[in-house]
Amino acid sequence: PSALREVLVQIPDIGWDDIGGLENAKQELQEAVEWPLKYPENFEKFGVKPPKGTLLFGSPGTGKTLLAKAVANESEANFIAVKGPELLSKWVGESEKGVREVFRKARQTAPTVVFFDEIDSIASTRGDSSGDSGVTQRVVNQLLTEIDGMEELQDVAIIAATNRPDIIDPGLMRPGRFDRHIKVENPNEEGRLAIFKVHSADMPLAKDVNLKKLAKETEDYVGADIEAVCREAAMLTLRDNIEAKEVSMKYFNKAMEKVKPTSDDGDMV
Ligand code: ATP
Repeated sequence: PSALREVLVQIPDIGWDDIGGLENAKQELQEAVEWPLKYPENFEKFGVKPPKGTLLFGSPGTGKTLLAKAVANESEANFIAVKGPELLSKWVGESEKGVREVFRKARQTAPTVVFFDEIDSIASTRGDSSGDSGVTQRVVNQLLTEIDGMEELQDVAIIAATNRPDIIDPGLMRPGRFDRHIKVENPNEEGRLAIFKVHSADMPLAKDVNLKKLAKETEDYVGADIEAVCREAAMLTLRDNIEAKEVSMKYFNKAMEKVKPTSDDGDMV
C-alpha cells in the first residue's frame, strides 16, 4: 500500500507549441516560473523577488494543466502533479503528511514544478464536499506552512489551478503565497484555429478541410472540446471506411454535431 502513496515525479513532454493560443498566459508563466527557475542570479542582481506561487484560473478544459506541464518542460524542471481531492482520498487520515511528502519530494528532485490541480476542493471558503472541514483546514494550513517556509528563488515553483477563483480561501492568495494570478481565457476564434491546428497536425486531412471555418463555427468550444472534435472526426472516418486515407470536412461537420461545448454550463467564471 505504501507504493500507492508515492509522490509521482514526471518529466512532461508538452511544449509551448503543443498549446494553441493562450499567448498571454504563456508569457506570464515564462516570467513567473521559467525565468526564476532558470536565471535566479539575474533576479538577485536586480533585487527582484519573483512570485512564490502562481494561480491559474479559467474554465475546465482550457489548458491549465497543459500550461503547467509546458512551463515545467520549458524550464527543464521535473513535474509533480497533485489533485486537491487526491490529497484527501489517497492520504486518508494522513493528508498533512501527504502535503509534507509532496514538498519533500519536490526539494529532492529540484528543479521541480509542483502543480496543485482543483485547489478549490481543499482550499475553498465554502467548506468541502467530504463534510470534514477539519481535515481540509489542516491540509491548507500545512500547505501554507510549506509555502511560507520556502525561500524565494529556490528551485521549486508552485502552481495551482482552479475553475472557481471566487471561492478560494483568501489566506492562500496573500502576498508571498499564490500571489500571481493568471487568467486562462476561453479561446477566441484565433485561439480555436491554433488549437485545431495542434490537434490535426498528425492527421492526414483532405483538401476540403477548412480549419478556419471550423474555428468560426465552434464559438463556445474550449481546447478539450476541440480535441474531442478532431478525435471524433477521425473515428467517424474510420468507422465508415477503415481503409480511409484522409479525414474530410464532412466528418468534421458530423463530429461538431456530436461533440457539444462543455463551457457554457452556467457556473463558470
Ligand atoms: P480542468 O480544469 O478540467 O482540469 P484544464 O484547464 O486543466 O482542465 P487541460 O487538462 O489542460 O485543461 O486540457 C484538457 C485537454 O484539452 C488537453 O489534454 C488538450 O488535449 C486539450 N486542450 C485544452 N486546451 C488546449 C489548448 N489551448 N491547446 C491545445 N489543446 C488543448
